[in-house]
Amino acid sequence: MENNQEMPNQIDKRFQHSNTDRDLLEKGAILQRDGTYAIAPHLPGGIITDPDLLIRLAETAKKYNCAALKVTSSQRIALVGLQKDDIDAAWADLDMKPGAAIGLCVRSVKFCPGTTFCKRGQQDSVGLGNEIDNKYHGMTMPSKFKIGISGCPNQCMDSMMIDFGAVGTSKGFNVFVGGNGGLKPRLGQSLAEQQTPQQVLDLLDRVVSFYSEQANANERLGRFIERIDLDIFKAAVLPEKSIHH
Ligand code: SF4
Repeated sequence: MENNQEMPNQIDKRFQHSNTDRDLLEKGAILQRDGTYAIAPHLPGGIITDPDLLIRLAETAKKYNCAALKVTSSQRIALVGLQKDDIDAAWADLDMKPGAAIGLCVRSVKFCPGTTFCKRGQQDSVGLGNEIDNKYHGMTMPSKFKIGISGCPNQCMDSMMIDFGAVGTSKGFNVFVGGNGGLKPRLGQSLAEQQTPQQVLDLLDRVVSFYSEQANANERLGRFIERIDLDIFKAAVLPEKSIHH
């Protein structure tokens, strides 16, 4: 991994490279093993309230002879097996925005059905998740950044295994930061408890600003927190009155 500590003010330049050389970032297309491509439209929360949208996805897959429709771990439905020359036409037929499946950005904002549909829901994870998705999905970050909002402590959205997670309880949302999977899995650490949706949004805003300003390129939030120390991170992102040492 390169060390960019000597150039802390050149944030945008640091984030321009990607190791996804053969994906077509500008078309939101991901190279597959056989040389075809997959595209994954943005589908907040994986929730489809208009069945015609599902029909359009299926008809587009059929029209371009896709090998599969694939439900992804980011709550999307990917069209897999597109020829390179069909990618633009497929997006035009779908009339949907691409999901931010690649690059150094907010890749996914996952949220569960919460009090909207789930009988165990204790908080409105759909409402909070949609607000977060509207503001942050696709936003440039030092590394990939995932968000998971769960409506109850069952944590169906892996909120402690994700960069920024919130877990609904009867008293509000508990917030965790710095979780990730991958080669070196890491559990998220508690940042704040019993937060209102607005407080979660304010916290996320501070986390994103501080992380974007201070982290090295490709440094995942959990590694960044480890490097600078959790107490220093908390002092930077928590409102003054909620810091306890
Ligand atoms: S986290 Fe809780 S509210 Fe959300 S889907 Fe799972 S059980 Fe339901």
